[in-house]
Amino acid sequence: MTETPAPRLSIAEIMNPRSVAVIGGSEDLRKFGARVLNNTIKGGFPGRIVPVNPKRDTVFGLTAVPKVSALDEPVDVAVIAVPRALVLDQLRDCAASGVGCCVLITAGFTETGEEGARLQEEINAVARTAGMRLIGPNCLGLINTHARLIMNSSPSMELTGHEPGGIGFISQSGALMATVYNRGVCDGARFSSTVSVGNQADLELADFMEWMADDPATRVITLYVEGFKNPGRFVAAAKRCRDAGKPVLMVKAGRSEEGARVAMSHTASLAGSWRVLQAVCRDAGVIPVDDTVAMMQTAEMFSRHGHPRGDGILVMSGSGGAAAITSDLFADRGLRLAAFSAQTRTALEEIYEPVQLGNPLDIGATRAKDFVSVDDSGLSLAAADPDVSANLLVIATAPQLTKSTEILARSGKATGKPTVVVFVPGNASDEGRRIVRDMGVLGYETIDEALRVLQGWMTPTGADAEPVRPHDLPDDEPFAGLADGMVDEHRVKQVLARYGVPVTRETPAANLDEAVSAAEAIGYPVVLKGFGPDLVHKSGEGAVALNLADRAALETAWQAMTERLGARLNGCLVAEMADGIEEVILGIKHDDQFGPMVLVGLGGVLAEIIDDVVLLPAPVAPESVKALMEGLRLWPAFDGARGRPKLDVAAIADAAARLSWLAIDAGERLRELDINPLIVRASGQGAIAVDARARLES
Ligand code: ADP
Ligand code: MG
Repeated sequence: MTETPAPRLSIAEIMNPRSVAVIGGSEDLRKFGARVLNNTIKGGFPGRIVPVNPKRDTVFGLTAVPKVSALDEPVDVAVIAVPRALVLDQLRDCAASGVGCCVLITAGFTETGEEGARLQEEINAVARTAGMRLIGPNCLGLINTHARLIMNSSPSMELTGHEPGGIGFISQSGALMATVYNRGVCDGARFSSTVSVGNQADLELADFMEWMADDPATRVITLYVEGFKNPGRFVAAAKRCRDAGKPVLMVKAGRSEEGARVAMSHTASLAGSWRVLQAVCRDAGVIPVDDTVAMMQTAEMFSRHGHPRGDGILVMSGSGGAAAITSDLFADRGLRLAAFSAQTRTALEEIYEPVQLGNPLDIGATRAKDFVSVDDSGLSLAAADPDVSANLLVIATAPQLTKSTEILARSGKATGKPTVVVFVPGNASDEGRRIVRDMGVLGYETIDEALRVLQGWMTPTGADAEPVRPHDLPDDEPFAGLADGMVDEHRVKQVLARYGVPVTRETPAANLDEAVSAAEAIGYPVVLKGFGPDLVHKSGEGAVALNLADRAALETAWQAMTERLGARLNGCLVAEMADGIEEVILGIKHDDQFGPMVLVGLGGVLAEIIDDVVLLPAPVAPESVKALMEGLRLWPAFDGARGRPKLDVAAIADAAARLSWLAIDAGERLRELDINPLIVRASGQGAIAVDARARLES
């Protein structure tokens, strides 16, 4: 194998080039190359711009060359926008003449099938052996507003402002990238850099995320993703962004592909691919967003205001109705109205009747009740409350609307706390919209839009506790010596026991005599469970007999079970009868992209119907499991609601953590594992696995 040379340029150098060439640059704006050239020139790029066109001496007034190799000095970045059949020649020419990176606009590669894929591989090999980087193919190009580089093929770029800002945007879709950029700018978003990564033949999503984590101009990172080229690198890059204090927001397409395969275990069916991705995002500090407009609005909020300092929000409105709607929606969005301190209330009593003084603050209810003497209606007093971390101003029609909007927005801005404005009226508030925008305050058209932004902005993105491997775990391969396929209950429990997960004391019995002596050793009451290769849902098949109080009961159960199941039985397990209060599912699912995931599901046998689960990438710390469980719908049932005993959540979390290490040790051979149920006792009394199974696949 030939050794790959070091890249000629770093990503920072590619994104801040000294010189660029556009291969296929003409004046025919119906063509990609012409548009890239036109946008680059109009964008005001201060470095050298070279049109490459064998048929012309000049293009848009710039001296053209027939080939990149005709230049005395190579350019840093060359855009290739020529028909597919000509790409390889141009690329070779660039590689030979020392170009640092080629941006391949041309489409028709892996996305079109085998032949395209072969060509893409060939292109990649040429670039790699030269140390030349590639962006694309099948992409739209780059933007770096701070470098005044608008090297992009979209016709919308001419209509879009390119004021420098703090949002980095990486998009796997080209057309969507230009659309989202244009819409974002119109909504007040300001970008630092955007990259359309296309087919990611060489440079990919994670490369640009890593660069943006270091790029001083980028304060927040936004992603449009269809599929991950390298899921592990994505997670690592996201964590690096988080460590750099930069939020990552992502719109991911393909949510609906979930659950295609029929799963053997409850865990696998509860942990579909979308849910796995959400769990991975939470772990890596990535904020998933439903649509691109909301993503850019939220990103701009981060870009201007950084992370929130707290979660209390002040709402002020001139309409009691709008204020009421806003507070109704708060709970749905998981948002919290700030609670005023006694001191704040006293200060506000100067302006408001005590009974009408609260959050939301209804501007219409001031003592003065005159809209003539326009002032900030106590906004600065209320916003000074330590529980207020952001101000939400909901504008309704009023006399002197423009003036009062201006005063409120200015006063909100002067509080030093992030302030956003919602304009409920239509054209009645057009002038107010303009003033607020010019002031640099973010404004939205609907209450829901504003709350969506605040919700995204408030999403916790901190790192989970570092998982620590318990000292008492074995260090060999947990399922060594076992064949692929389903692993039976007793075997799985033996492995669990070695990992310190409590399991029932039990013994397999081949005949009644063995069953009786096993029961005597374990102590009555016992449970009798049939096992055999096709006995999957044992209780549904009459293969579980619970709470057998004595020898007579055991004998009766044995007779009944052996008669009913006959040859399907390989034998029966005699197990201790466990006691407890609730049942939960604990499970492992190996995700093809993100590796082993740990699941805790509440609801016992109804877990799949109730669908109230915690999912985390393994390994996990018990604290993280517990913290997530506190957010579940059924959490009160575990936490002593309605006079119930508090349950041993620590034992659940400990078992989940141990199971997660088992998953790490077993590696990808362990496809699925279910403990169903883990029976949970009252706080301090522990939990115990009474049923388990697993599936191995090499
Ligand atoms: P399956 O899930 O294959 O039907 P299980 O072993 O889970 O079989 O048994 C069914 C139910 O019986 C469990 O959900 C649990 O409620 C109860 N059960 C099973 N084993 C025990 C045991 N050892 N102690 C107490 N209850 C048990
Ligand atoms: Mg079960």
